[in-house]
Amino acid sequence: MNITSRTEFDATITQIVEASTAYYTDGTSNLSDAQFDSLYDAASAYAEQQGIDAPELAKVASGSVSGDVAHSVPMLSLEKVTEDTAALTTWMTKSGIEQFSVEPKLDGLAVVIRYRNGKPVQMVTRGDGSHGEDVTYALESIDNIPAFVGGPSHHKGGISTRDIRGFDLEVRGEAVFTHDQFEGANVLREQHGDPVFANARNGVAGTLRGAKSRDYLIPFSFYAYDQIGLDTAPHTDSMDDLEAFGFATAAGLLGRRGPHDMGQVVTEVQAWAGAEPNVDTDGIVVKADRTSDRVRLGIGSRTPRWAIAYKYATQQVTSTLLEVEWTIGRTGRLTPRARIEPVELTGSTVTYASLHNPDDISRKGFMLGDTVIVKKAGEIIPRLEAPVVAHRDGSQTPIDVPAVCPNCGSNFDTTQAVWRCVRGRGCAAVESVAYAVSRDALDIDGLSTSLVKRMIDQGVVTDLADLFTLTAAQVAAVSSDKVYGDTAQNRKADRVGQSVPVGSTVAGNIVTQIEKAKTAGLARVITSLGVRGTGRSMSRRLAKHFGSMDALRAASVEELATVEKIGTIKAAMIVDELAELASVIDRMSAAGVVMQDAPASRATTDACSQPLAGMSVCVTGSMVLRTRSEMNETVESLGGRAASSVSKSTSLLVAGPGAGSKLDKAATLGVRVMTEDEFIAEYL
Ligand SMILES: [Zn+2]
Repeated sequence: MNITSRTEFDATITQIVEASTAYYTDGTSNLSDAQFDSLYDAASAYAEQQGIDAPELAKVASGSVSGDVAHSVPMLSLEKVTEDTAALTTWMTKSGIEQFSVEPKLDGLAVVIRYRNGKPVQMVTRGDGSHGEDVTYALESIDNIPAFVGGPSHHKGGISTRDIRGFDLEVRGEAVFTHDQFEGANVLREQHGDPVFANARNGVAGTLRGAKSRDYLIPFSFYAYDQIGLDTAPHTDSMDDLEAFGFATAAGLLGRRGPHDMGQVVTEVQAWAGAEPNVDTDGIVVKADRTSDRVRLGIGSRTPRWAIAYKYATQQVTSTLLEVEWTIGRTGRLTPRARIEPVELTGSTVTYASLHNPDDISRKGFMLGDTVIVKKAGEIIPRLEAPVVAHRDGSQTPIDVPAVCPNCGSNFDTTQAVWRCVRGRGCAAVESVAYAVSRDALDIDGLSTSLVKRMIDQGVVTDLADLFTLTAAQVAAVSSDKVYGDTAQNRKADRVGQSVPVGSTVAGNIVTQIEKAKTAGLARVITSLGVRGTGRSMSRRLAKHFGSMDALRAASVEELATVEKIGTIKAAMIVDELAELASVIDRMSAAGVVMQDAPASRATTDACSQPLAGMSVCVTGSMVLRTRSEMNETVESLGGRAASSVSKSTSLLVAGPGAGSKLDKAATLGVRVMTEDEFIAEYL
């Protein structure tokens, strides 16, 4: 919409404030999010165009329509650039800053938590920046802040003393729902007969405002990005301190905090565009890390001159929901995927969009044939945001959620928002084992998926570890649809469609291959476990970093998070899954699978002196001298990063015959392209 007069503007402001008040008071509103956003955008555009100062807009945006608690230091908004690294680089150059801190920009509600004598005593919303609203009653709903902050020293003006005492501290950050919390919040609201939240951002605002009158707690999280009270500098060090006290920080989501130089900032911004954290984010905040730079640059009319928000362009289109496909993952998780009418979005044709889980479908009320909003904001795979209910014409039909596991017919464990087959990993044993023996993992030749299925159906193998204790006689006795060897008996079996045993020759080969796989190397062993979030290249990084399965299993979440590109969330997942796989790993090890790499095979040379240091290399098409997987290993052994897709941050694309869309994309983005021969000539 477009506002053309002051009268219309005033009316719109009234409408926005009313809707916002209703929403934040009890979580309801007569406007849809899209309608609200559209009114808000139109009002903002008109205010800017006419030079009208409209504090209501700032208040609405920050989730508060009133507030009387003064902030100790104003909570300013930030200057923004949208998806423009050139503008970001210009800003960084002009600022004269050399050392930056970088943190994800969380899409929640800015709040301040005040600690007195070490205890959290007050929480205040951002409000209009100078005054916020007291929401202290919601403090007990936050499940990730320390109950006590103190120590012997470290405190502004503090005298070093052996006595532990509580600090006075003000921590600023973002109140957010993690995706899991958001799902949990709506389950809670439904149980209590309250309307569900439409999205995480408005949900957390509604949770804060409504907490006073609600008789149940809705847990949410707090991620810190600033503090007043600690004398630690630079900023990145103060964030380390907050983490040491037990706070989660926005910077911590990156997995590494820096400080960063300009080049690293751009790399981080590009890397984050592909990240899928457990909280909604809409960009990256880049700040001067040193206090001296902040003082030198000072504050502009409304925003500090030492910080900038780099926002990712949110793009959305509408399409039609054609079908929901259900798959069971390797861990038994049921995942819906939406097939949609093909549509152009951010330069590519989209035919599938993600849906989180069955609850997501029922909560948002999707129906087959619905016009749907497809949205992409940072993520790699676009997601199905919401149905456009107004477009329904009666032809839409409900979505059938499977009653039993489509893989094995067992029941689902539906106690969590994510449904899992009660057999867990056992349900997808065929897929798990077939994945483990595939070329990219243990590369066991001769073990086809159909043979794996036979072995599992016939109870010879129940999981990956069982493979390594198989005898040739056991394999030989497995009956198989495939006819091995041209014998009279086999020809007859083939004619009548009868199954015959694998036979001793083939079995002997398979057992030899399995034996060989015991020394496939740590990276391939890690890959074979099929831990969520660890594909081939991540497994190689883990192997390189830890060197042995024992070291990997002993690693804490914090330690894992420091490995390149992992981050805290994925690290926590890996720790959980490795614990779940303990028996499989132990049995593999007992059967003689080598779980550590010889020191010589690990990179010992100085990373910077390697030919591909700092480069991101993608390999596509057929390779002649090596498989793609081996090429990726070569890239990593030369200090480069093996990338699975082409993006602006790709340094080089090695393309063989049959290279398709990646080659086109590289041409569009101006990424350097080489043949396999050229690559070998230049780097090997
Ligand atoms: Zn199942």
